[in-house]
Amino acid sequence: AVLLEVRDLKARVADSETEILRGVDLTIREGEVHAIMGKNGSGKSTFAKVLVGHPDYEVTAGSAGFKNENLFDKEPEERSHAGLFMSFQSPIEVPGVSNDEFLRMACNARRAALNKPELPPLEFFAHLMPKLKALNMSPTFLNRNVNEGFSGGEKKRNEILQLAVLEADLALLDEIDSGLDVDALRDVANAINGLRTSKNAVLMITHHERLLDYIHPDYVHIMDNGRIVRTGDSSLAQIVHKEGYTAL
Ligand code: ADP
Ligand code: MG
Ligand code: MG
Repeated sequence: AVLLEVRDLKARVADSETEILRGVDLTIREGEVHAIMGKNGSGKSTFAKVLVGHPDYEVTAGSAGFKNENLFDKEPEERSHAGLFMSFQSPIEVPGVSNDEFLRMACNARRAALNKPELPPLEFFAHLMPKLKALNMSPTFLNRNVNEGFSGGEKKRNEILQLAVLEADLALLDEIDSGLDVDALRDVANAINGLRTSKNAVLMITHHERLLDYIHPDYVHIMDNGRIVRTGDSSLAQIVHKEGYTAL
C-alpha cells in the first residue's frame, strides 16, 4: 500500500517570496527504502521539513497524502502521532528534560494514537533497553537532558533511538550519516535496517553514496532546484559518486 503520495508540492520560506520547492512528486510504498540526493541547496532538507510541518515554510501548491490522509490538515504533533518521523540534520537540545522522560512521553503519545495502553516506567524501560543496546549506547544517556552536550555522533544515535521507540511508519532521515565515524555509521545503519518491516518505509537524504552501502535503497532520486529531476535505482548513486551531479 502507498504510505506517502506527494504531488506537485510547492513551498516557500514563510512570509517571503522565496520559493524553494517548485513541484515535487514522490510516491513511497510500504516496505520501500528511498534516497534523495542532490547538490547543497537543492531543497532536500526543506522537502522533509515541509512534510513534518516545520513552521519556517509554507506550502503554496500541491498535496501530500500520508496513509490516505491529507498531511497538511494535521499539526506537526499529529503527523508524528500518525507515524511520520524526521531526524534532523542538527538535532535540538531540550534543556531540563531527561532523555528517558522525553522518550517515554513521545512513545506514549504515539501509543495513544494507535489505541495501545500507556507504558508505565518499568515496562517502558524493558521496551527501551534492547533498542539502546542495539545502538551501542550507554544507559547513562537516559539520565542526561535530551541532546545536551551530546557529540554529533551521539545525537545521531539518539535520533535513531527515538525512531526505534516510536515505531514510525515512515522515517525521514536527513543526513543521518554526516559527522559519523565508520563505527557509528555502522551502528546507526544496522539499527535502521533492524527496524525495517514490510509495513514501514525509509527516506534517506544524503550527499554521500557511503550511507547507501549500508542501507540499500530501492529508489534513488536526484533533487535539483526544488524538483526531483531523476529517479532510478542505486546505480544512480554510483554515477553521482564517480562523476558528480553535472553528469546527470
Ligand atoms: P539542501 O538540504 O538540499 O542542502 P535546503 O532545503 O536546506 O537544501 O535549502 C534549499 C534552499 O533554500 C537554499 O538556498 C537555502 O538557503 C534556502 N532556505 C532553506 N531554508 C530557508 C529559510 N528558513 N530561510 C531562507 N532560505 C532558506
Ligand atoms: Mg545542505
Ligand atoms: Mg540539507
